[in-house]
Amino acid sequence: MDLIGKIDALFRRRGHTCYSDERTEAVSALEHALQCAQLAEWAHADTALVAAALLHDLGQLMDGGPDDALRDDQHELRALPMLSAGFGPEVTEPIRLHVAAKRYLVSTDEAYEGTLSPASLHSLRLQGGRMNAEERLLFENHAHAAAALKLRRWDDLAKRPGMRTPSLDYYLGLLEQLQGEARTPPRLSIV
Ligand code: FE
Ligand code: FE
Repeated sequence: MDLIGKIDALFRRRGHTCYSDERTEAVSALEHALQCAQLAEWAHADTALVAAALLHDLGQLMDGGPDDALRDDQHELRALPMLSAGFGPEVTEPIRLHVAAKRYLVSTDEAYEGTLSPASLHSLRLQGGRMNAEERLLFENHAHAAAALKLRRWDDLAKRPGMRTPSLDYYLGLLEQLQGEARTPPRLSIV
């Protein structure tokens, strides 16, 4: 099965899960992914960042997470080995950094913490809470920090029950297009 087929299968088989206990969100994992990608498109993000928005929580649908809700599931890392086989750092790095972006925002924006859902606040505590000055500096100097912060803002908004979005097939087509672009070498213009 190719990479897009694997992504499709994960969303279709496990995307309807809503998380229980402290991790409860108002929408399913698939609805959250589609809403996040839609918000990225509405903000005119480039295709790679729309893809990152769609795929940012894919790790939650993969095996290997903890059984209980009281441990950090490190879901931002779990899909990266699979995704980096087909996508570049413009896609994988904002995904890897989307938890760090939350920790950065709670330590730099006073109003931000109040906007988080109960599930997101719960995971924040498990993920290390606020960043210290050194962690903030390291984050700010990352080449993909700005993209990760944008993704984080869409992530936090992508939890609206009943919101209409384009279909999963539409976004899978966009992923195929992105892979096609990566395979096509840039044309030399000879004048
Ligand atoms: Fe996440
Ligand atoms: Fe998310």
